[in-house]
Amino acid sequence: MNISSPQPPETQLSRLLALIGQPVRIQILLILGGQEACVCHLEAVLGLRQASISQHLMALRKAGLVEPRRCGRNIFYHLVRPEVVSVLNQAAVLAGLDPAALQQLAVRPVAGCPCPQCNPNAQPGASCQNLHPAPSSSECP
Ligand SMILES: [Zn+2]
Repeated sequence: MNISSPQPPETQLSRLLALIGQPVRIQILLILGGQEACVCHLEAVLGLRQASISQHLMALRKAGLVEPRRCGRNIFYHLVRPEVVSVLNQAAVLAGLDPAALQQLAVRPVAGCPCPQCNPNAQPGASCQNLHPAPSSSECP
């Protein structure tokens, strides 16, 4: 960002809309709109590889829309600006879609997902990788 010559508001808005306007990023924002999620949950829902999801998360993070929270061995992402979900819902109406259809992405648990949130019987602080207790779960709720 060039500080000496700030971009006009329409340019800044265009950049923001382009940043969130990719299908995978819309999906990620809608999933996080329901509840914070770890990368393996996003993998299970989106059917994408972790490297790809991490790239999208990085872009959303740089834009100040999402933030990570470490809990044991897992990193959960949450929305910094939850109002982005209502922006997406409004956009859905403009596109002639039923906003309720967007909410399907936020439904949990997801069958076959290894994350602790989809496996409520796992011990608190369990890792997505093995569902064993993490060495330090002090930061976990
Ligand atoms: Zn899950």
